[in-house]
Amino acid sequence: MLLEVHDLHVEFRTRDGIAKAVNGVTYGVDAGETLAVLGESGSGKSVTAQAVMGILDIPPGRITGGRILFQGRDLLTLKEEERRTVRGAEMAMIFQDALSSLNPVLSVGDQLGEMFVVHRGMSRKDARAKAVELMDRVRIPAAKERVRQYPHQFSGGMRQRIMIAMAMALEPALIIADEPTTALDVTVQAQVMELLAELQRELHMGLILITHDLGVVADVADRIAVMYAGRIVESAPVHDIYKAPAHPYTRGLLDSIPRLDQKGQELYAIKGLPPNLMHIPPGCAFHPRCPMAQDVCRTDEPPLYEVDEERGSACHFWRECLHG
Ligand code: SF4
Ligand code: MG
Repeated sequence: MLLEVHDLHVEFRTRDGIAKAVNGVTYGVDAGETLAVLGESGSGKSVTAQAVMGILDIPPGRITGGRILFQGRDLLTLKEEERRTVRGAEMAMIFQDALSSLNPVLSVGDQLGEMFVVHRGMSRKDARAKAVELMDRVRIPAAKERVRQYPHQFSGGMRQRIMIAMAMALEPALIIADEPTTALDVTVQAQVMELLAELQRELHMGLILITHDLGVVADVADRIAVMYAGRIVESAPVHDIYKAPAHPYTRGLLDSIPRLDQKGQELYAIKGLPPNLMHIPPGCAFHPRCPMAQDVCRTDEPPLYEVDEERGSACHFWRECLHG
């Protein structure tokens, strides 16, 4: 395994108390594999990724338990210096909002080139040539001319391509993309997602794709981990999930994807809101919103039951869900 997260716990100290953002997450990604991490906002999917990237070890966020193994090394025991090297060269992150992640007063060429100057000791001139090469690679037209332009001179989709170019510049082993296409139009979304998937295959990288939208990952993910209230509630190969979900929450997410054959009909929405992380409901955290909830769900927290070798579900009634 390229990356293994074991029983990770993360808390946030707030004025009103301790928010339990991540409550025992275990997942893994292999080289050349894409793991989609799915959930509503506040489910802990981004926080888990930030812990992996090592950009969370500052208050108010605190890792209170677990291990993160990357290429066999336990990242949580590395010194900040070593951690920074791993973060810069071996793993990279792509965020939703390229405009706020890019420096507005530096040309995109300078920003892309900087990676090679800092991490590879290249001259400015060689770094500039590398920047043009990268822009070509993410299919930005007229890269030679546009390399001199500033982030605001690019469209949202083109800026996201620049972010992808930055992330893959040093050919990291792992890329984490947090809602990389959420801010884009649907057609542009598909193009950017395709590009990301293509580069991931070519470079044989591990990819963690964080999203709230089950609709965008069907064609690109190998596995899906569904998160709720800081836990993984279902984990399975992508095709199994689409065929038949083994958790009522996954079913709800599937039912809320807009479908062409249902145009005009009102879209299904899971009732209620995600829980307050300072007061996670006892038993199954999903029970106040679950259409299948029974008495036992209000008292007994479901473990991640083994549905089969490749699949787990944290629902007492996963069999009924799977066959219902
Ligand atoms: Fe619903 Fe109960 Fe399953 Fe939780 S354990 S998802 S409340 S049926
Ligand atoms: Mg998020």
